[in-house]
Formats: sequence, structure tokens, C-alpha cells
Amino acid sequence: MKYISIAVPVLGVLACAASAQNVDSLVGDQLPGLVATYEDIHAHPELSHHEKRTAALLAAELRKAGFSVTEGVGKYPDGSQAYGVIAILQNGAGPRLLIRGDMDALPIIEQTGVAYASQIGGVMHACGHDIHTTTLIGTARVLAATRKHWHGTVMLVGQPSEETIDGAKALLADHIYERFGTPDFAIALHDSNGQPAGMVSLVSGPAQASSTSIDVTLRGIGGHGAHPQAGKDPIVMAGEFIVQLQTIVSRQEDPSLPSVVTIGDIHGGTKRNIIPNEVKLEITARTYSDQGRQVIGDGVRRTAAGVALAAGVPDSLAPVVTVLENESTPVMYNDPALTARVKAALIAALGANNVADAKPIMESEDFGIFGLEGHKIPTVMFWLGAMDPVEFAAAQAAGKSLPGPHTSLFQPMAQPTLRASVKSMSTVAIALLNR
Ligand SMILES: [Zn+2]
Ligand SMILES: [Zn+2]
Repeated sequence: MKYISIAVPVLGVLACAASAQNVDSLVGDQLPGLVATYEDIHAHPELSHHEKRTAALLAAELRKAGFSVTEGVGKYPDGSQAYGVIAILQNGAGPRLLIRGDMDALPIIEQTGVAYASQIGGVMHACGHDIHTTTLIGTARVLAATRKHWHGTVMLVGQPSEETIDGAKALLADHIYERFGTPDFAIALHDSNGQPAGMVSLVSGPAQASSTSIDVTLRGIGGHGAHPQAGKDPIVMAGEFIVQLQTIVSRQEDPSLPSVVTIGDIHGGTKRNIIPNEVKLEITARTYSDQGRQVIGDGVRRTAAGVALAAGVPDSLAPVVTVLENESTPVMYNDPALTARVKAALIAALGANNVADAKPIMESEDFGIFGLEGHKIPTVMFWLGAMDPVEFAAAQAAGKSLPGPHTSLFQPMAQPTLRASVKSMSTVAIALLNR
């Protein structure tokens, strides 16, 4: 048994090493076209739930590459249809591999100054999902052209609404596994400002934190600003609540469990001399365990109730605390055995010097949802370096970092980034479909 378990991955790597040159030239041939496609998608970003043009472009390209494509996949809880794209390529018996690329952009005004900058006011591909969508197209073409090197089924997923973390859920709610088959494993990549183009990195095990969205409404009794004694001031309650909330992480949570509680949005009041009736706060909580998630949820409820009690708010106006399940997402878990196989393939594709180990982060992703509850389907997401190598080295020498995702200046260097992304994803796919 021991020999078999060692021999199989080695064979997989040898097979992908044999086809590495082939993949390299296939990627090189289509690179100018892919860069043009990337620039077109970048210039026409679409917000979450609105990825109509991007989805249509992706579907058309995947169909041209020989995949069987279904559009308009995904159902949101309000019954509206999502712009998901599922593309299947069957190539004999073998495993089923899901490769996910997300398509949505962000409400940011682009300031990169590039010639292909966003033509849509206030919307920008600031998370690089344009790179991810283009990578799906490039990978589809390489896999279609290298059929003799692999067998099984490739299931490409153009995912809508990653930024609102309800896109993966919408696809599963539309029964994609029942309709298109349950994958044996799922992989994805995400571009990053943490490495230059040509390099990748990955984490084995828990890689990205869970995210829990919580809304809190502190209710008081409004009145004239000059007569606070006649009401219950929710603005003062909010002040106490904000400070108290930070003691959940520092005093209630196990210090060995990383967690974050951030209030990113507060609304209350209309005028300086009016005490309002209520203040609304939006919280995001990040943890790596269900236990941590529970401690934070309980802590938020208790803190809100305690602040209201101390202010003398009547029971009928107790704070309202709501956990938004549809805006929450579990830990992104990179299955260790699959991570080892993916890493070996990445080394075959890019060389050992260009594949690094990464650390877990507190940011969140909904890709883990494709693994189903309890990590039933092994998933792996790896980081894709996207920065101009010269600028990256200069920034590093100066002890700085280049602007990252979710900023108006995030600027992947298209050509070397796409070369590495398509090469990596294709090589990983061929290696995983070699058994
Ligand atoms: Zn993002
Ligand atoms: Zn992203």
C-alpha cells in the first residue's frame, strides 16, 4: 500500500512534466488573444448579481473551445436568476474536476490610469476576477487541445457574486451537482499583490477565515438634544457598544484562535440637536472555528443587551441582533492531500523556486462552499502572483507593498500573470485527471 500511495502522485507529476512543454507552447500561442480578452473584461466590469456581459462572453468562448455550456445558472434566495456559467468537457472515464473562476467586480472608482481602464463609472475589476475569468478561457483551450494527456470530466464554473458571497450558494441552490455531476475535487486560484507575476503560493489546511455578517440595531427613545434625560440616547449606547465589542476578541475568545470583529458601517441620527430613536451597525466577524464564531455571536448579543440594560432601555426596545446567514461563509479549507498534489503540479509547471508556502489569512472566500459541509469534496485554492516583477522588487526593497485587491490602484500585469495562471491551472488539471 505504501508503495502505491507514493507511486501514484509521482506518476502524475511525470505525466504532467511530459506535457509541460506542450502546455507551455499552447499557452504562448493564445497569450496575445487572452490579454485582449482580459482588457475587454477589465474595461467592462459588472457588479455582483449583474455579470450579464461577462457571463455571455465567457460562455461564447468556452463553447468555441468545445465545451458544452449552460448559461443563467444559479438561484438567489429572492428567486432571481444568477448569471452562472457551467461548461463541461467529457473525455472518457475518470475523475470529475471542478475549476472555478469568479466574474464580478466592485463598486470602486478606478485610478490605475491604464489604457483599458473601466468604462463603467464607479465599478472596477479591483479584485482581479477579470484575470480569473480569462484564465478559465485559456485553460479550457489548453485542456481541449491536450485530451490525450488526461481522462475524465472537466467542469468549468463561471461563478457570479463572489464579492457578496452568495454566488457559490446560488449555484448549489440551483442543484448544479445534481444537474452536471458531483465533482471529485474542486480547484480555484486568486490573484494577489503579494507575489510577482510568474509565482504562486498556497496554504495546506485552513487557508481563509469564515466570515459572519451581523446587523445590530440599538434602539433608544429620541428627543430634543437639550433634554437627554427625557429619552434614551442610542448614540451614546453605540459608543459604549463599539468599545465593548473589542473585548470579545481580547477577553472572551481563546487567544490561540485567530478572530476579528469589525464594525464597518454605522448609521444613526439626522441633525446635531436631535437624539435619534435608533442606531444601526453592520459587523463582520472572522474566525477559523465554529467555536470562535459562536463566541462572537453570543458576545455581540450579550454586549448589545448589556449596553441597553445599563442605559435603562425598556425591554420592548431591546436591541435587535440579526446574523445574516446568506452573507456569511465558512472557512476556506485546502485539503492537505489534494494540496500536495496541486503543489507538485505547480512545481512542474513553474519550477520549485516559483512555488511558495503561504500563511492563512483573515479574508474570506465563498469557494469553500463547493466542498460542501464537512469538506466532503476536497478543495484547493492557490494564490497567483500578479504584480510587475520589476515594480514588485523595487517596492520590496523600499519596504513597501504594491496596491492590492479592493483598492482603486490594484493593477495586475496581464501578460505574465495570464501566462502563469493558464499554465498553472492547465497543468494542475492534467495532473489531477491522470489517475
Ligand atoms: Zn474581492
Ligand atoms: Zn476576489
